[in-house]
Amino acid sequence: MYDISAVREDFPILGREVYKRPLVYLDNAATTQKPRCVVEAMTNEYYTVNANVHRGVHYLSGQATDLHEAARERVRRFINARRADEVVFTRGTTESINLVAATWGEAFLQAGDEVLLTVMEHHSDIVPWQLLRERKGIVLKVVPMTDSGELDLEAYGALLSPRTKIVCCAHVSNVLGTVNPVKRMAEMAHAQGALMLVDAAQSVPHFQVDVQELGCDFLAFSGHKVYGPTGIGVLYGREELLEQMPPYQGGGEMIGRVTWEHTTFERPPFRFEAGTPDYVGTHGLAAALDYVDKLGMEQIHAHEQEITRYAMEQMALIPDMHLYGTTAGKDAVVSFNVGNIHPLDLGTLLDRLGIAIRTGHHCAQPLMERCGVEGMARASFALYTTRQEVDALVEGIDRVRKMF
Ligand code: PLP
Repeated sequence: MYDISAVREDFPILGREVYKRPLVYLDNAATTQKPRCVVEAMTNEYYTVNANVHRGVHYLSGQATDLHEAARERVRRFINARRADEVVFTRGTTESINLVAATWGEAFLQAGDEVLLTVMEHHSDIVPWQLLRERKGIVLKVVPMTDSGELDLEAYGALLSPRTKIVCCAHVSNVLGTVNPVKRMAEMAHAQGALMLVDAAQSVPHFQVDVQELGCDFLAFSGHKVYGPTGIGVLYGREELLEQMPPYQGGGEMIGRVTWEHTTFERPPFRFEAGTPDYVGTHGLAAALDYVDKLGMEQIHAHEQEITRYAMEQMALIPDMHLYGTTAGKDAVVSFNVGNIHPLDLGTLLDRLGIAIRTGHHCAQPLMERCGVEGMARASFALYTTRQEVDALVEGIDRVRKMF
């Protein structure tokens, strides 16, 4: 039995008030709150272990290094990578995708090569490829979607060709909640000799993600969206690919030997981790993944699916409600507009009721254009979201609606 009250006790911030009202935090797709165990793991490391990793001969450095490398192994298990060396620590999804574009893209793409993106990508999976287009003259192609928010797989098949070198796709849309068929898409990409990059920022927090099962070549996610600290993220890359990729940034830790004439580089993942890593962040991330696994990913998924279904049903009853993304099995995100109310006004007025939602373009302006709007309001859920919070949102929207 999933004990939501006990779960909420693990997150001190959920007990606070804003404007003298209980906080209703529904901005989890932007960032999740942190359980006590994550903050304590990090505090304990600072209080009892702190030392720079990899380079010290002394006791504390060895202990900090062990924690840091244990976190890499923890991430490996979480996504079922074959080897811990396939886990590169970055600052987040954004940096992970930039790393692939700047290293693999720079080394292996030529003018005229095609990169396939989808219409529902986050800017962090669009702009790095546009920057590369400026430098290399590659061509970006976009997979369209249906009005319900489902990718058009037939169109995807037609866009794939021997010129396609990589397909980049969000596993779950941060706006529509659509769960994209990335396993099938990877098979289709591979049949054309292209690689598959999965932006898992919005899937890893909500259901089990297995890189071997998906058959993807790269996968990116952010620690802060899966109850971990800010500033730490992951790039998974297949070993053979990482081996071939040039370094991302230069500095300490990523080298073999440096002379004035020539420098050789470390093996992956260290080749891509120049400088002092956020070793306290990696330890915090490991604590977050332990926490999620202890609750059970299947239980979390079932709870969030139930909350999402309930929210979709209840919100559909509000007059003048427009819901974006209505695919079956959509995950933990409900984006909407109500009548002619500007989403910013809606968000600001809900905030005064203690309800935190997100408004705007959600870093997906091409998707806003596809939907014919400038922006949307978005409520997004987490393992601690309750039906009562959804009720508060629905009541709040109705109250705001009557003001216009
Ligand atoms: N991709 C998706 C689908 C996202 O939702 C987000 C964040 O909202 C990102 C990428 C970027 O994540 P970060 O800002 O943690 O790098």
